[in-house]
Amino acid sequence: MSGEAAQRYDVAVIGAGMAGMAAALFAAERGLSCIQIGSGGGILFASALLDLLAVHPVAEHRLWQSPFDALAALAREQPGHPLARVDAASIRTAFETFVAALNSAGLAYAPLGERNSHVITSIGTVKSSYGVPLTMVAAVQALQQRLPCLLVDFRGLREFSARQIVETLAGDWPDLRHQRIDFPGFEAVPELYAAHLARALEDRETRERTIALIQPLLGDARVVGVPALLGLGRSSEVHAAFEAGLGVGVFEIPTMPTSVPGLRLLGALEAAVSARGVTRRQRSSVRTLTLDGSTATLELEGLTGGECIKARAVVLATGRFSGRGLTADRQSVRESILGLPVQQPATREGWHERDFLDPAGHAINRAGVVTDDAWRPLAASGKPAWENLYAIGSILAEQDWMREKCGSGLAIATAWAVVDVIAGSDPQSRMSGKPGG
Ligand SMILES: Cc1cc2nc3c(=O)[nH]c(=O)nc-3n(C[C@H](O)[C@H](O)[C@H](O)COP(=O)(O)OP(=O)(O)OC[C@H]3O[C@@H](n4cnc5c(N)ncnc54)[C@H](O)[C@@H]3O)c2cc1C
Repeated sequence: MSGEAAQRYDVAVIGAGMAGMAAALFAAERGLSCIQIGSGGGILFASALLDLLAVHPVAEHRLWQSPFDALAALAREQPGHPLARVDAASIRTAFETFVAALNSAGLAYAPLGERNSHVITSIGTVKSSYGVPLTMVAAVQALQQRLPCLLVDFRGLREFSARQIVETLAGDWPDLRHQRIDFPGFEAVPELYAAHLARALEDRETRERTIALIQPLLGDARVVGVPALLGLGRSSEVHAAFEAGLGVGVFEIPTMPTSVPGLRLLGALEAAVSARGVTRRQRSSVRTLTLDGSTATLELEGLTGGECIKARAVVLATGRFSGRGLTADRQSVRESILGLPVQQPATREGWHERDFLDPAGHAINRAGVVTDDAWRPLAASGKPAWENLYAIGSILAEQDWMREKCGSGLAIATAWAVVDVIAGSDPQSRMSGKPGG
């Protein structure tokens, strides 16, 4: 270390995936000084649909219309699940706060209600989710009422075929058609990437030329679906221009990762946490974490060199294997920073079922850190590893967010609950509120 005085914060959030972003956002909104360490996590790969809880129990693949009814069933039948440990009122407030922050950062969402919505995926399946970006919301009514609908794609666009979607859905949606057009200005380019086209559509002339190409294809269509590339940072404006220009509802269909909606979501979250005064270290990671008395010391490493941070509370939002929060060798799984105990099958043979597509999923996908009621990870002794160390998001045990369709819900709900605990703990013991204090 440089020998400079360590910067001090109320909260250090380790991780910048959905859980880390939500925690940093909520902490800043509660007036806590906060530093966040880590790069974008799984957000870049996400569709920007905010799943709360759609499937329970996993083995039956039971789909729920109301995520709150699903949460109630989860609480009865699987009380150890992290989402079952946050009350519904807090989850509602957490989602409202999260979506309001995204709206204020220019990424607009449809108002949140009581039900999951159905939207179309890039492979023509139907996905059930809770928070739907405004650019995708016209799909909900189109799908529900099987409205006459035109899907448009672009010659050369990788991994997106309107024809394939129509072939998959046409069986019970007779008024669904598709058309392929050239993207204006890119006619000679053999391979197109969604992010390039999204940026191009922020240019008014390109947008108008694209709308003019779709207009004559409309026929009786009352709604038009396009791959999710209606602008990057200015998606509301581009989407509104398409609806005005075509005179019908327009919806985006999320594309394969890395997706434009993922880029938008990451951009909006970065803007939202920065606007609320969170200090960010995107290019750093935590090398060591020392927990001592009432202060945690974090040694960072990264492109800009080493750095030392002190914090009153630490939130571990480091994800599972892809996030690097958990590491596996041939014998076992361990937590990467502190070596915290990880709940997991007794031997490696128990990690996976014989059938890869086993409806109940695999035990390894439920492995994770176990916490007490206040979300503090337990040490080998069975006691909290440290008074002010908390764990949130996908690093937690007893959930399978991919199969349960609860990725964002798990992140947002547990982040809210932990910030509530931290903000509620002795305010007198807060540090100065400003870094360097
Ligand atoms: C392909 C894909 C599609 C998805 N689609 C959806 C969807 O449609 N709807 C939905 O709701 N959710 C979706 N999700 C899930 C969601 O976006 C989150 O990835 C998931 O909820 C897990 O979030 P997390 O924050 O717990 O972990 P991660 O996203 O894995 O983040 C972990 C973070 O920890 C950081 N980290 C790890 N170790 C360190 C260290 N030592 N120092 C500093 N930082 C560290 C990493 O850099 C990263 O920022 C999708 C995810 C993926 C991967």
